[in-house]
Amino acid sequence: MPDVLVIGGGVIGLGVAWRCAQRGLKVTVVDPAPGSGASSAAAGMLAPATELHYGEQALLQLNLDSARRYPQFAAELVAASGQDIGYRRSGALVAAWDDADLANLRDLQAFGSSLGVATELPPLLDTRAAELDLERADTAVFYSISNCQPGLAGVNLGTALVKQVVEALRLDLPQLRRFVTLSPIPGLRAWVEHALAADGAGLRTQERELLPAAPARVLARLSDHEWDVDEAIRPALLALCARYLTTAVEGRAADRQPQQSGQVRGNVVDLGRSRLCHRGS
Ligand SMILES: Cc1cc2nc3c(=O)[nH]c(=O)nc-3n(C[C@H](O)[C@H](O)[C@H](O)COP(=O)(O)OP(=O)(O)OC[C@H]3O[C@@H](n4cnc5c(N)ncnc54)[C@H](O)[C@@H]3O)c2cc1C
Repeated sequence: MPDVLVIGGGVIGLGVAWRCAQRGLKVTVVDPAPGSGASSAAAGMLAPATELHYGEQALLQLNLDSARRYPQFAAELVAASGQDIGYRRSGALVAAWDDADLANLRDLQAFGSSLGVATELPPLLDTRAAELDLERADTAVFYSISNCQPGLAGVNLGTALVKQVVEALRLDLPQLRRFVTLSPIPGLRAWVEHALAADGAGLRTQERELLPAAPARVLARLSDHEWDVDEAIRPALLALCARYLTTAVEGRAADRQPQQSGQVRGNVVDLGRSRLCHRGS
């Protein structure tokens, strides 16, 4: 006969059951399909500030307190299970899509600010940069379309969102011809490896000059996860990346081979400035 009967084995039921068992109680969990409920669908974000609503100040305090306790809980869980649960601490970023969104965000920020959370609403990009003439833009760039949680790797959320925005942009700005993502840049790694193979035969003179050593050594360095912070190869990789984005993948990545011709050309729709985050006030 158990001391505690928990009906439902989602995060809540299992969390309760675990804590009870730790305290020496005999626990039984009943669930025909444990872990199949909302817990399997959740994005896993703990973001008390962005979930703030008027009239829910008490809930905010509970959420903040829970978020403060969670790192300890997560560490215990990792120690007990021997598994990485993918918990990472990061800030939360809320982007405004249009002026109405921005008004809501400002309102939320003022409310959050009065409660000691969400105190910042900075512009994301360099506000000193010149505004582009959107009518002349032919390329749209998406920033940081990636899932930050390891558990979401393979979930095509970013792609679905990008496709939706691409359709909206095509209606607003039919002259746009190229759509590229920064971080991640699908295919870049393979393309760079191809460009560096054969001792850099596919490189332009300027790109070759930026490389510190034989291309084969740079290729070997790329296997290291920290390669992107290596200042010795960063300038050459940035130059290759610029060429990849602006010339090599034109036409739905039909040609991923390095090309000798073509310049960085055209205007770029800076989505961060125009649509996805707010302008500086
Ligand atoms: C799309 C989505 C995204 C979300 N994103 C987030 C997020 O980013 N951050 C966040 O904090 N929260 C998020 N949530 C909310 C979060 O998932 C839930 O609050 C949480 O998972 C609830 O856990 P639970 O254990 O109560 O329920 P569940 O995980 O739903 O577990 C309930 C369990 O009960 C079992 N069960 C049902 N009926 C019976 C029965 N009669 N007998 C026995 N067992 C039964 C089911 O099989 C299931 O396993 C999200 C939810 C959804 C749907």
